[in-house]
Amino acid sequence: MKLSEPGGKAFDPLTAYCLLPTAYINPRMANVRKPVIAGNWKMYKTLGEAVEFVKDLRGRFAKVDQCEIVVAPPFTALRAVAEALRGSNIAVAAQDCHWDKEGAHTGDISCDMLYDAGCTHVIIGHSERRHDHGETDEQVNRKLKSALAEELVPIVCVGETLEEREAGQTQTVLERQFHGGFRTLTPQEFSHIIVAYEPVWAIGTGRTATPEMAAESHRVLRELASGQFGGEAAIQLRILYGGSVKPDNIAGLMAQEEIDGALVGGASLQADSFSAIVNYH
Ligand code: PEP
Repeated sequence: MKLSEPGGKAFDPLTAYCLLPTAYINPRMANVRKPVIAGNWKMYKTLGEAVEFVKDLRGRFAKVDQCEIVVAPPFTALRAVAEALRGSNIAVAAQDCHWDKEGAHTGDISCDMLYDAGCTHVIIGHSERRHDHGETDEQVNRKLKSALAEELVPIVCVGETLEEREAGQTQTVLERQFHGGFRTLTPQEFSHIIVAYEPVWAIGTGRTATPEMAAESHRVLRELASGQFGGEAAIQLRILYGGSVKPDNIAGLMAQEEIDGALVGGASLQADSFSAIVNYH
């Protein structure tokens, strides 16, 4: 048996907590990528606030089926949020993980523990982790392998800083992060991954990349996916844009064929703004 409820009863978070498939093929149109709208709460919301909030979201989103919805609360609220969302169409992500299953890693949480808490997804390599904790592409690679082994869907963040963009290095940075993060993965493993393109200069700054700029980087990432994992893997790959996504810019971003959804920070913390983003069309 893989995991158990605190009371000892076996469960499978992928079916027990969330009704979302991890991939989607429109039966009428092959290779359509179902959009994903994911809210990264960062270090916001107490346990009580988190549960109240997702109860509200659950009602608001009950009929949404045009996109997959994910929320990423802080570690302390994961289990309670997963319980509050059990059987809903909203999936739960952690904001980080450790690559080991267990061990002497004070303050860290393993993918096994995240699965046990009811997570189906995990954000890996967010620029705030790379900046605040010195996370490297090699660590991103180890974390995402561990997430895949635990059947969690990794949402892997990549993106350049302002200095790198201004120095014309955006493509080089994306190549480095892509190859470093995804090295040694098989195409089959890669097929479970969601990539989030998050230019660091756009995160929490109110400065969004234009839809064209975002789409250009998404094209680079899709070409990298094609080169490393083949054309089919590239076509199926969902690439989210993140960086000051708001109700008033989501439609423009989503109008780009290359953009398959959004990773939303600040605007995911209020129900009205998050619902406006989820209902972008
Ligand atoms: C994020 O946290 O990944 C993010 C993109 O934040 P914001 O939407 O606040 O820029």
